[in-house]
Amino acid sequence: MDSVRLGRMKTVKICAQALNRWILAQKAALHGSESRLSGMVATLLIMLFGMATAFGITPGTATHPIAVLPVIEDVTQHALTPAETPGVYTQQDQVHSGDTLAALLFRMGVDDRAALEFMRQDPLARTIYQQLSPGKPIRVQHLANGDLVSLRFPRGEDKTLVVTRTDDRFQSAEEHVGSLHRVVQASGRIQSSLFAAADSAGIPDSVTRQLSRLFSTDIDFHNDLRTGDSFSVVYEAVQDDFDQVKAGRILAAEFVNKGVTLRRVYFDGPDGGDYYTPDGHGSRASFLRSPLEFSRVTSGFTSARFHPILHTWRAHKGIDLAAPTGTPVLAVANATVAFAGWRNGYGNVIELRHSSGISTVYGHLSAFAHGLRAGQHIHQGEVIGYVGMTGWATGPHLHYEFKIGGVQRDPQGPDVPRHATASLTGHAKTQFLAATAPLVKELDAIRGNTLAKFE
Ligand SMILES: [Zn+2]
Repeated sequence: MDSVRLGRMKTVKICAQALNRWILAQKAALHGSESRLSGMVATLLIMLFGMATAFGITPGTATHPIAVLPVIEDVTQHALTPAETPGVYTQQDQVHSGDTLAALLFRMGVDDRAALEFMRQDPLARTIYQQLSPGKPIRVQHLANGDLVSLRFPRGEDKTLVVTRTDDRFQSAEEHVGSLHRVVQASGRIQSSLFAAADSAGIPDSVTRQLSRLFSTDIDFHNDLRTGDSFSVVYEAVQDDFDQVKAGRILAAEFVNKGVTLRRVYFDGPDGGDYYTPDGHGSRASFLRSPLEFSRVTSGFTSARFHPILHTWRAHKGIDLAAPTGTPVLAVANATVAFAGWRNGYGNVIELRHSSGISTVYGHLSAFAHGLRAGQHIHQGEVIGYVGMTGWATGPHLHYEFKIGGVQRDPQGPDVPRHATASLTGHAKTQFLAATAPLVKELDAIRGNTLAKFE
């Protein structure tokens, strides 16, 4: 049993950490209040000193860090995982593929026929047998002799199956567990790409995607990023009964791009939750900067250029965005589909009609979004089709046009309206400033730390 546990580095690490906490707690306990663990503490401390000494006196040997590790493992071997109740050990693990319940429990130090028998018979507890899918967490408490004291196993989003022993009888119950909402902050600096920087800052991909969407009105994440650009983010995370953390919504974010600082804060305002600049200006884009999440412009908007296939000089009244075939194409704003079909030169093409006489065109598509048809209403950011090379195209790319009153304008130029959400005024603004002040303070604090970290 112990050797199984010993073989796992993760357990060892947890124990080392937990051991520190435990020693600290016991130091306090040793001062006065009687504790049944005192004897064990004394033993443990002697053991620690003993082993350290043993390593210390070996002539010409290794450095201290190497000497310390076996000590920690040895402590693990004695199963001194801390617990609230003396003599009760808490273990958390997860289901591995091919695990039987017996094998899983045994790996965690439980060797208890009666408990397994109970879980086979009990109508509630036996549901665990059908739910042993790999990756699911499980937490047990057991005695040194392997007897199960309690078991916790997730049942859906917010329920936990609990099996407990009282004397020699077992009981099962379903507990409703609240998840713990936490606020996490992180910051990073661009070396190569946004995702690489976010990765090394430990930011989950879902948060990075939110971050790029949040600033996509002002920053083109392929063309505008520079080495040394930095960002900070404050986001919600939900911690479940098994200490697993899922990332949620961004609450505040800062992006410093080419020396210009941009900030966004989340506010649940009169028209629902949305992002604003810290002084209350709406920040949602009326038109996305690009219909592709990540792309690069291979051919800009010009009045004349050499056409690679027709071998003539013609105006290029749109921009070409290089991306692999199949890359999703997003509607840059709410719209009605004006046209979806084949046009000479453009191949498979979509034209969207927006408000104020504006329309956008997406050419060379490999495919349309399932069921897309003229007259259909489309939301900003919705996938309308996929990058391809139909029509006159030498390689996969998106040809994108932005028209005002039927006349093409530069999609990256100043004619494209940027901000859609209204700015807050009056009472709403007062409420906004009060509600978001702590977020702004947090961004200030992270910025201070980031400067210290990178400079
Ligand atoms: Zn083009």
